[in-house]
Amino acid sequence: ANRALFQSQKMESIGQLTGGIAHDINNLLSVLASGLEVLTLRRKDSGDAKTFESMRRAIDRGATLTQQLLAFARQQPLRAEARNINRLISGFESVLRRAGNASIEFALDLDPHLHSAVLDSARFESALLNLVVNARDAMPLGGRLTVSTRNVTLAEREVGTLAAGTYAKVTVSDTGTGMPADVASRAFEPFFTTKEVGKGTGLGLSQVYGFIKQSGGEIVIDSVLGEGTAMSIYLPAVEQGGTAAPVNVNERVLIVE
Ligand code: ADP
Repeated sequence: ANRALFQSQKMESIGQLTGGIAHDINNLLSVLASGLEVLTLRRKDSGDAKTFESMRRAIDRGATLTQQLLAFARQQPLRAEARNINRLISGFESVLRRAGNASIEFALDLDPHLHSAVLDSARFESALLNLVVNARDAMPLGGRLTVSTRNVTLAEREVGTLAAGTYAKVTVSDTGTGMPADVASRAFEPFFTTKEVGKGTGLGLSQVYGFIKQSGGEIVIDSVLGEGTAMSIYLPAVEQGGTAAPVNVNERVLIVE
């Protein structure tokens, strides 16, 4: 429990730092973007077109990165509503399958009685895709990738800092490399990556972490070196009666100016 507390405090200070920096970089990028627009309109030499285009792309790339950082720092409001997660996963299945490759066997294992959860469906899909891409990358020699859903009833603090209650649990598991303990303990940090330069940004899991925390949930790594990894997301279930679990999804745990 102490470890979990330490981890969440660490993530919170990293979040505050990155949120503040991302915010400032975003402002600088927008100054550059509007300046570039003026210059593009005024340009005389048509040979400049390529330079302008590559500057434009660099600014867009920077903006995407800062968006990802802000998502980690939980500065983006969610568009949350009660959703059937199984239906979201099934609707997104072909994209998830395409993220794999021929040597990866893809399986869905969905609990037909899964409770709905209050979440932002677009952000959920992007989180799921991040987990699936990581699972694929962990299996360069092929293997099995499973996306499963289950209802779970938890006691107070049984999983991280979650309150007692019912949760929809979504697990992405692979039969890949697994993570050494030092990688698992840093995996959610922004910019932490073990992938080659150009292959990984280290922002995927930090984004997922921010989104899940903001949704009142928790994400847990269960990894065995040489055997594989299971990444499990817990999201507060909407109770059977139709009222949402008592969680304010737009509550900001981090206050970043
Ligand atoms: P990136 O994928 O760009 O490296 P992430 O934040 O998504 O960034 O992941 C951080 C690191 O966590 C990865 O570089 C990898 O070392 C580790 N990791 C994430 N998912 C898995 C997995 N399923 N199996 C093994 N290692 C993983």
